[in-house]
Amino acid sequence: MPNSSFCVYQIRQHFPILNQTINEHPLIYLDNAATTQKPQAMVDAVAAYYLHDNANVHRASHHLSLRATGAFEAVRETVKTFINAESIKEIIWTKGTTEGLNLLANVLSKGLQTGDEVIISALEHHANIVPWQMLVESHGIVLKIIPLTAQHDLDLEAYQSLLSEKTKIVSVTHISNALGVINPIKEMVRLAHQVGAQFIIDGAQAVGHQTVDVQDLDCDYYVFSAHKLFAPTGVGVLYGKQHLLEALPPWQGGGEMIKTVSFEKSTFNQLPFKFEAGTPNISGVIGLGAAIDFLRAFNRQDLIDHEQSLLTYTEKALSEIPAISVFNPGGIKSGALSFAVQGEHPSDIAMLLDAQGIAVRSGAHCAMPLMAELNCIGTVRVSFSMYNTLEEAERFIEALGKILEMLK
Ligand code: PMP
Repeated sequence: MPNSSFCVYQIRQHFPILNQTINEHPLIYLDNAATTQKPQAMVDAVAAYYLHDNANVHRASHHLSLRATGAFEAVRETVKTFINAESIKEIIWTKGTTEGLNLLANVLSKGLQTGDEVIISALEHHANIVPWQMLVESHGIVLKIIPLTAQHDLDLEAYQSLLSEKTKIVSVTHISNALGVINPIKEMVRLAHQVGAQFIIDGAQAVGHQTVDVQDLDCDYYVFSAHKLFAPTGVGVLYGKQHLLEALPPWQGGGEMIKTVSFEKSTFNQLPFKFEAGTPNISGVIGLGAAIDFLRAFNRQDLIDHEQSLLTYTEKALSEIPAISVFNPGGIKSGALSFAVQGEHPSDIAMLLDAQGIAVRSGAHCAMPLMAELNCIGTVRVSFSMYNTLEEAERFIEALGKILEMLK
């Protein structure tokens, strides 16, 4: 386990994947918003589970199953503490953010009527657009979109004017995956509650970069993916306030989510199992627990400050290059920033960076409506994590400079 004093070079030693060359250059991984790299301790925990404890959970009374169930359920407590939920009954395992949002759209739709309004924002990932759009088709709900200001922040005045007694749900991202913009989400929750709407936060980008306190935010639901938090793919968390989850119908049917089944009628299990049909991603959950334990060994504020300094340096350096325009210039961002290069396709820039060992993401970032709003085909996005160094950010700027020189 790492010690608690912050040293980025020590942190890097926990991530063996970083120690390699790509195209004969040391790898610089700046695509952390897509997925984070994995610490050795997390990989070891998953391996140890498969090597020593593998069994199905909640089912048998034999020793391995008891051990697997104990390890699996202990992570619910870890996650509860990590996001400051009130109870482990509020922590539901999902496949990830996308599944969490689909689950919510599906079960909340049972209480919606034609003409009810759902508000999302122009900054949303497709995962927080399409499930609601499907309800426009199936339930006649009305989808309203919070627009952007000229600075690419959410227009809060417009948000307030969209809110009314017709608003039943507001579902907004905590941090934009495409631009890195941090939304004033706590205030947005407060405003939605004033009209009696429920608030869902897409926390996919936030959990890896911020301290999340669901009770302080007072959100009704919070969803995230483990793989953006140094843990495996295929597992995620849906947090919901207990009394709200209790009132909702189950989503998928199957084993584990039932109390009794007969051909005439089934009765459903209590929280959190009511929403967890079938064998869960046991190793993924155990990996998530190990990833959070790893993270908790550091002072979170040190990590936030470090990432912020990389972002500040990079934005300043990019804004000094005439051919480049940064989106949300000078705005409050976390983790990621996006830019366009005048006259160049974002994919070409990304490919030329890759030739120098630098991994960035280019394209629409699963946010096509946002790209339409920004009037661009896509962006180049750099996204940082705890293990990135200032030298890497400098090398990225240097490499980009060379590319722009070459493309002249
Ligand atoms: N929302 C946001 C803000 C995201 O960044 C992502 C992942 N890029 C998702 C939703 C979807 O996450 P996943 O693919 O892990 O379900």
